[in-house]
Amino acid sequence: MKSIYDFSLKELQSYFESIGETKFRAGQVFDWLYVKRVNSFDEMTNLKKDLIKYLKENFSFKRLEMLKVQKDTDVRKYLFKLWDGNKIEAVLMKHDYGNSICVSSQVGCNMGCKFCESGRLKKVRNLEAYELVLQLLMVEEDLKMRISHVVLMGIGEPFDNYDNVMRFIRIINDPKGIDVGIRHITVSTCGIVPKIKAFANEKTGVNLAISLHAPNDELRSKIMPINKVYKIKDIMNVLNEYIQKTNRRVTFEYVLLKGVNDSKECADELCKLLKGMNCYVNLIPYNETSHLEYKTSSRVTIMEFYDILKKNKINVTIRKEFGAKVSAACGQLRSEHTIESER
Ligand code: SAH
Repeated sequence: MKSIYDFSLKELQSYFESIGETKFRAGQVFDWLYVKRVNSFDEMTNLKKDLIKYLKENFSFKRLEMLKVQKDTDVRKYLFKLWDGNKIEAVLMKHDYGNSICVSSQVGCNMGCKFCESGRLKKVRNLEAYELVLQLLMVEEDLKMRISHVVLMGIGEPFDNYDNVMRFIRIINDPKGIDVGIRHITVSTCGIVPKIKAFANEKTGVNLAISLHAPNDELRSKIMPINKVYKIKDIMNVLNEYIQKTNRRVTFEYVLLKGVNDSKECADELCKLLKGMNCYVNLIPYNETSHLEYKTSSRVTIMEFYDILKKNKINVTIRKEFGAKVSAACGQLRSEHTIESER
């Protein structure tokens, strides 16, 4: 049975019209789901009995199963079981500016970035929009607080699941529903160029982050196989188009891997690549994982890299480290299959 959480307001309205109901009724259902947050159709007391009966027969309210919550100061990591038994993770981070959730977009991932734990399980399937929506709703229920920021930086490549991700964004951004501000939503991609182009054309206002991680093709192709398909030049071209169309700044994520991409030469090359671009760089100290050989750069190296960018007038920050204790940090999330077989 299809989940009732799988519709944007517009989609729910056209569905209602297709069954001889009104847009107005669809709006009421949307309000019950996302503003009043009921857990059954019976609680939707302003609907006619026969409509409630119809909805009950055709749609499911079922939640995901929250298998595990690991808590650390300011971080909670959630393990969810999907209806088909697959497992994914989401992470909640408490910042001084609000609560932010990092959601997964796929079971496993096919991008194969060498340093990332999430890709050790190949993609099993895309998540449906409702599975993304329920990550957010269930974490809010657990937290008993509103989530103000959403990042699509969990397991999976969001632009390899473009349509469902965009539907998810439309659902959570709707001012008649959960109402997460569009500028509080960030999509992160390893650089799927045609999808960045499509995203630019939609002019959503959503923040775009690019996992760059290397300043040249030779190095990038070694650590990120996707670079064999879409070269850095292709990414830069499409980003310039994006910036022109949307007038938005782009974020580059650059994970510092000891001895791999953290040299002064790399920093210089990165500066040349990004010179004059409306962007900012988020340096991510690598989170070591037990199965991969990459190491974290030293504090000194990180600071030197940072200083070179600063000197070249590139906007740069070092990402605050979150959740390493509960393996909830960037690149440490995985689809539990891989975990169970190894313990
Ligand atoms: N597939 C998307 C979304 C994942 S975002 C993307 O590539 O952007 C997760 C971010 O964490 C990516 O920038 C990823 O490259 C980075 N990452 C992966 N493994 C990491 C690790 N062990 N330590 C720090 N960052 C890591």
